Amino acid sequence: MWATNWREEAWAGLDRPWDVIVVGGGITGAGILREAARLGLRTLLVEARDWGWGTSSRSSKLVHGGLRYLKEGRVRLTRASVQERERLLEEGPGLIDPMGFLLATYKGDRPGRWTYSAGLSVYDLLALQWTHRHYTARDFQMLAPHISQEGLEGGFCYGDAQTDDARLVLRVIREAVAGGATALNYVTAEKLLRAGARHAAPVVGLRLRDEVSGKHTDVYGRVVINATGAWADRLRAQAGALPRMRPLRGSHLVFPRWRLPVAQAVGFLHPLDRRPVFIFPWEGITLVGTTDVDHEQPLDEEPRISPQEVAYLMAAVESQFPSLGLTLDDVISTFAGIRPVIGSGKEDPSKEGRDHVVWDENGLLTVTGGKLTTFRLIALDALQAVAHRLPELPPLDDQVPVLDPVSLALPAENLLDGAARRRLLGRYGADAPALVAAAGEGELETIAGTQTLWAELRWAARAEGVVHLDDLLLRRVRLGQLLPQGGRAQMPHFRAICQPELGWDDEHWEEAEAAYLALWDSAYSLPAREAIPDWRTMLSEAQAQRVAAQPTRRRKVVKGTAVAGVLAAVAAALGVLFWRWRRA
Ligand SMILES: Cc1cc2nc3c(=O)[nH]c(=O)nc-3n(C[C@H](O)[C@H](O)[C@H](O)COP(=O)(O)OP(=O)(O)OC[C@H]3O[C@@H](n4cnc5c(N)ncnc54)[C@H](O)[C@@H]3O)c2cc1C
Repeated sequence: MWATNWREEAWAGLDRPWDVIVVGGGITGAGILREAARLGLRTLLVEARDWGWGTSSRSSKLVHGGLRYLKEGRVRLTRASVQERERLLEEGPGLIDPMGFLLATYKGDRPGRWTYSAGLSVYDLLALQWTHRHYTARDFQMLAPHISQEGLEGGFCYGDAQTDDARLVLRVIREAVAGGATALNYVTAEKLLRAGARHAAPVVGLRLRDEVSGKHTDVYGRVVINATGAWADRLRAQAGALPRMRPLRGSHLVFPRWRLPVAQAVGFLHPLDRRPVFIFPWEGITLVGTTDVDHEQPLDEEPRISPQEVAYLMAAVESQFPSLGLTLDDVISTFAGIRPVIGSGKEDPSKEGRDHVVWDENGLLTVTGGKLTTFRLIALDALQAVAHRLPELPPLDDQVPVLDPVSLALPAENLLDGAARRRLLGRYGADAPALVAAAGEGELETIAGTQTLWAELRWAARAEGVVHLDDLLLRRVRLGQLLPQGGRAQMPHFRAICQPELGWDDEHWEEAEAAYLALWDSAYSLPAREAIPDWRTMLSEAQAQRVAAQPTRRRKVVKGTAVAGVLAAVAAALGVLFWRWRRA
């Protein structure tokens, strides 16, 4: 769909009136573009870097309700999220897939078994299902063979889901474009254009800069929506609004599956601060995340993990899987993303709320915060907020699937197993048959150590709007995160497939490769080893402090029991409702 010269052609066609102009090509902007195009609105989206370059390619990739929101009493947010999870699982198999979660309980742990049991009952009932189950210590060890056994009492297994976040963004954008929308990457919205000189005069358009050619142009629309995530304050400042964002960084470590083997996600409370962390399988590797710290680097720079975050995540792995003896040498890569969180001045970043907000400020609509999981609801909220400016807008229907249905036959069916077929249909939607048809000899095989087919690489280079090599290797396919050293060793093979498809000459490829490898070294590898604190010392100090603090824990036990009681009551009420609903 995005073949040679598509950017030039799209740029040349910007000079027409738009109904809606969306700034920001993460999942929030993509969702708005999709829903607006579906409603027949002339819609344009511009993204300053690449699709999903911001936070939406750097998340934990979970499509989930979030047990922690439930613990905070955010029942509505949890319910909306688990219901969205169920819908996405149904609409996008192969892109959004079920994943089991394990929660171990240890002697003296708070919350303990009964609180988890009540919480998981509510969690399941909110999605009108019953997936969770308790296992004894012996059975639990069979589900998570290398897990720490000291004091293990047992644990729970429950169902959630995961995705490939960057591919989710791309699929939503491509389906919007197929439905008539226009989307351009590497185009920055520099300036709000107003109907008059007054600061509060209505916003009527944007001055855009093409980051590839350096050209500028003005575009005009009836509604401008700022979906720039953690960057939202920048355009808001031009609308005279005060800054509200508190960018919080979350980072991950990537391990080879054979060194940190988990068949499903393992969730637990970090021994240093009792924050929930997860270790989970994804795309043939194992991810460990995440952190939650104030992000003090400039927002224009590629975010990177700090030495302290590396130690924090290594401490998590060490505490949960001590027998594996993992070291920094086992880490394949790292990545960091910035949460678009609305600041309320709380000292602990993790205590800040994670809901999305919709602000209409002097004619600029800003939508930020929230989660990947609820992007469809966020998009509908945004369109609802501008409905009064688009009187012809039909009523919003929240029952329409956000992903287009795909039930296509693929060519070369006999060369693809069920998992590969499902993967291609889920990730590439209506493009999957063309991708398979374009595959060269042997390219329907996977790249060793990953679940990515060689054919995906060729297709991305040919038809997915790649401008820089990191677009291709970090977001269209995720090889930069999955392979050691960002795929340095396989680069000649990547080049043989991709250079002709991209239409780059040797000089262009060599420059692009050098830039990609420099980016990988600076933002996707480990920081200098000598700067990383010793996590084993951190763990033993925390253990000593816990022992010293034993008496005060008794009060927390009483509080934990009260939480379990409340959750059990809510679970019982939901159970009755569920039973009545089933009978009806
Ligand atoms: C570590 C981490 C883990 C997470 N895990 C999960 C999870 O497991 N599940 C879940 O549901 N959610 C998760 N989230 C939350 C989720 O990832 C984010 O809420 C979501 O990706 C935000 O999407 P967005 O489109 O609003 O922002 P972004 O994805 O950041 O998109 C905003 C885009 O705007 C662009 N932009 C900025 N300024 C301009 C401009 N002037 N002109 C044009 N473009 C501009 C940026 O380049 C950027 O690409 C996680 C977040 C983090 C940080």
